[in-house]
Amino acid sequence: MPEQSRSVTFKNVSKVYAGSVKAVDGVSLEVAGGSFVALVGASGSGKSTLLKTVNRLIEPSDGEVRIGDEPVAAEPAYLLRRRIGYVFQNIGLFPHMNVGENVAIGLKLAGEHDTRPRVAELLELVELAPELAERMPDALSGGQRQRVGVARALACKPGLLLMDEPFGALDPVTRDGLGKAIRALHDGMGLTTILVTHDMAEALLLADRVLVMEAGRIVADSTPRDLLAGKAGAVADALVAVPREQAHRLAELEK
Ligand code: ADP
Ligand code: MG
Repeated sequence: MPEQSRSVTFKNVSKVYAGSVKAVDGVSLEVAGGSFVALVGASGSGKSTLLKTVNRLIEPSDGEVRIGDEPVAAEPAYLLRRRIGYVFQNIGLFPHMNVGENVAIGLKLAGEHDTRPRVAELLELVELAPELAERMPDALSGGQRQRVGVARALACKPGLLLMDEPFGALDPVTRDGLGKAIRALHDGMGLTTILVTHDMAEALLLADRVLVMEAGRIVADSTPRDLLAGKAGAVADALVAVPREQAHRLAELEK
């Protein structure tokens, strides 16, 4: 099976944290290989917990996650994670390493010695100037830092990209640009992408399919078009209402 475009299957996945409520409550669904899926929901609805069961930062209390036909538990977590790109808010670049070294971490861990050409290629991929390889993380803008995070996540050519609020701390213009860049990378590289976001407008504009989570359950599962047409239920409608109303108000102003 090629690394690219593999599906992700959740089979009755639950997670109960010690002394806590069910953060994820019996989720079953399949993310098709090559698709771009957004996972949307209010804070605390269980999005991050569900996402982290894929790269085993969290072990489910019940159920199973598979990539392609293979359970994620079938191999050591560090090998699994090499095949999965992971980008999160405030990406956590190592402050004492320059950009190039940060991007090359995964490559070094995988035993590659001459990482320079690949780092240059990765910086180009995320539209960063090659000179930035020498720059320290604290001398980058927030948007540049997230691009470095994306380059690092893609270094080992994963077929699967997991993103958890990757644009959270960015201004709207940077956020929009990075969103488009990631969608282009997804299409160009044939990735399977799961994007966690609390921003419904972003989900609708970037994804092929939108999952809405509430209290640990998937309460809507729809294409952006059907979601906008009000076919995805009350929780989804409420999340769409805000950006829709803003768009109408802007359109009114332009009249
Ligand atoms: P989201 O990403 O949608 O904001 P999370 O998956 O982070 O939601 O959290 C889901 C629920 O699980 C919340 O009620 C949260 O407080 C709880 N939770 C998350 N992480 C932990 C943890 N490590 N220990 C205990 N409870 C947690
Ligand atoms: Mg979260």
